[in-house]
Amino acid sequence: MATKPPENDKPATPRRPAQKPDAAAQPPSDAADAPTKGEASRARAVPMDPKPTGLPAPSAAANAQRPVDADAEPRTAGEPTPRVAVEPSSPDEGRAPSGPARPASTPAPAQSQTPIEAERPSPEPTPEPTEATTTPPEFWPVDEHQVAEAVEEIPEPPAYPPHASLFIVHIAPEMAPVAKVGGLADVVFGLTRELAIRGNHVEIILPKYDTLRYDHIFELHEVFHDLWVPWYEAAIHCTVYFGFVHGRKCFFIEPHSQDDFFNRGSIYGFPDDVLRYAFFSRAAIEFLWRAGKHPDIIHCHDWQTALVPVYLYEIYQRLGMTHPRICLTIHNFAHQGVIGGELLRATGLHQPERFFDHHRLGDNRHPNALNLLKGGVVYANFVTTVSPRYAFETKDQGQGFGLEPTLHAHQVKYGGVVNGIDYDVWNPEIDHHLPVRYNLDSIDGKYDDKRALRHRLMLADNEKPIVAFIGRLDPQKGLELVRHAIFYTLERGGQFVLLGSSPDPAINADFWGLKRMLNDSPDCHLEIGFDDDLAHLIYAGADMMLVPSRFEPCGLTQLIALRYATIPIVRAIGGLADTVFDKDHSTRPLHERNGYVFEHYDQAGLESALGRGLACYYQYPEHFRELMKNAMRADYSWNRPGEDYLNIYDYIRDK
Ligand code: ADP
Repeated sequence: MATKPPENDKPATPRRPAQKPDAAAQPPSDAADAPTKGEASRARAVPMDPKPTGLPAPSAAANAQRPVDADAEPRTAGEPTPRVAVEPSSPDEGRAPSGPARPASTPAPAQSQTPIEAERPSPEPTPEPTEATTTPPEFWPVDEHQVAEAVEEIPEPPAYPPHASLFIVHIAPEMAPVAKVGGLADVVFGLTRELAIRGNHVEIILPKYDTLRYDHIFELHEVFHDLWVPWYEAAIHCTVYFGFVHGRKCFFIEPHSQDDFFNRGSIYGFPDDVLRYAFFSRAAIEFLWRAGKHPDIIHCHDWQTALVPVYLYEIYQRLGMTHPRICLTIHNFAHQGVIGGELLRATGLHQPERFFDHHRLGDNRHPNALNLLKGGVVYANFVTTVSPRYAFETKDQGQGFGLEPTLHAHQVKYGGVVNGIDYDVWNPEIDHHLPVRYNLDSIDGKYDDKRALRHRLMLADNEKPIVAFIGRLDPQKGLELVRHAIFYTLERGGQFVLLGSSPDPAINADFWGLKRMLNDSPDCHLEIGFDDDLAHLIYAGADMMLVPSRFEPCGLTQLIALRYATIPIVRAIGGLADTVFDKDHSTRPLHERNGYVFEHYDQAGLESALGRGLACYYQYPEHFRELMKNAMRADYSWNRPGEDYLNIYDYIRDK
């Protein structure tokens, strides 16, 4: 058994002494300079301050002091050395596929902010992106010769310097495949493995839902019987289980109370959701405390676990839990966990005058409400979202659902890291869902899969390109434009395949109506439902993948499509803008251009990108093929984000 019962589950090697700089040991809301120090923006997650000042980049010598010790248990003693790089945030500056290491730039100015100071408008507001880099005109002429003329050296992927081994605990409401609702689940699954294979000790704490996919949990057993979690004036008895999920070490917390918090047949959708996850967050940190675990890093996800840093700095630090530092990742700002004062009574935080304060948990829009996600932003040592562009949009372009001023106040510890995808699952070279597997050298295998897709969906076998859409049928995904794209593609001599579903019966009915209308078309198939197997075949068999979202924090669809040499047609927002670079208009080197991008959410915008894609397919097939190769060469594995998160962890450890 790889793990001991939690009572004994302490790191085997001496940990870093608990004493830290005083400032860091204070709750963020009290300690002006605690987790919001200016240096926070030195972490490689693209900081939001676009005006770096002249502080020096970390030295190579400093990095060299940190040997790899893959087998070592969590922390070593000794003075940590920040190993960070920084880069200015620009909407066109996402992760460069297979590109060289980003140059270390200079960090933001060190700031000492009290929460009150911090809420003032930034003296140097982030400038709007320039037209030249972010807003290509929708109808720029296509210069097809650009691609053909380009003979470029494709740089080697970066080699990363070593990090010290850390003890990292992820506290999350979801993890694929055992408890999955959205992309958050995939991120926890993918990132935790990446961190573990880099020699870190990684554990995950999840609720023990009745809907867990137990067929993916191995050696599940009880490890902590008597966990009593304070709740209102009493405490709820919990049992903690341990099991492996595809090699990942997972603890599952099961509360025993009349509320039956996690035995409800589904993960979300209940009137007391905010209280359910406030409880889970408290239970998770209480478990760490009672089990004697002292992780270097606690990594929380979304509003559901955003109270963990609040609990740490308001309750557990006073009890002696001074070691952990907290990273919070926000996967979608649309959901924030807003609730009234009952939260304070339930959690034992009490002190309404303290927590309703605008600089702590007081909701920015509703004066009588508390906002869990806001609390996470205020109290966490570092806050990430899932792409640099979305970080910019949420802070500066009104996409923060009310949290814009809070993000501004804490911008020095806020940045974006693009998600990775799991190349063990999404890889046409080994994908067992495909009749024919292929890679860069055997890319023609894709056309066999295209035939198989047509056969499966009873589409005509002809020379036409297949344009696909896979996704939730949610307004966020740009459903009007999806609908328009279907007819536009058919008119322009293409085929269209859609795979999607919605929990909203009205939306489903709408697409069923569309399906009936197009039923006789030999060039169109709409599949209303969720079908993972078919999704793999579509990623492989389609020529283009449409993602016309209204907003998209990161987006996995375009990343998967790239891996399968399926050219993404996307709107230039969020993670889409950070990962898809327009063949004709991007400022990127030609070998990094991998799709078609449009700016404005309207039919003309969509047609400008999709039309160019279709035209290229028909008129310049050799260029289209180059684009496919560029797409396949891009590295959107967890390799780079794993490095980015380790840089963040390294940085906040020293705060
Ligand atoms: P979001 O998290 O907003 O739903 P993402 O693009 O981040 O969007 O992730 C969506 C993931 O779900 C992708 O892996 C996509 O292939 C998959 N997916 C979405 N809808 C379906 C469906 N109907 N059938 C199969 N897979 C789907």
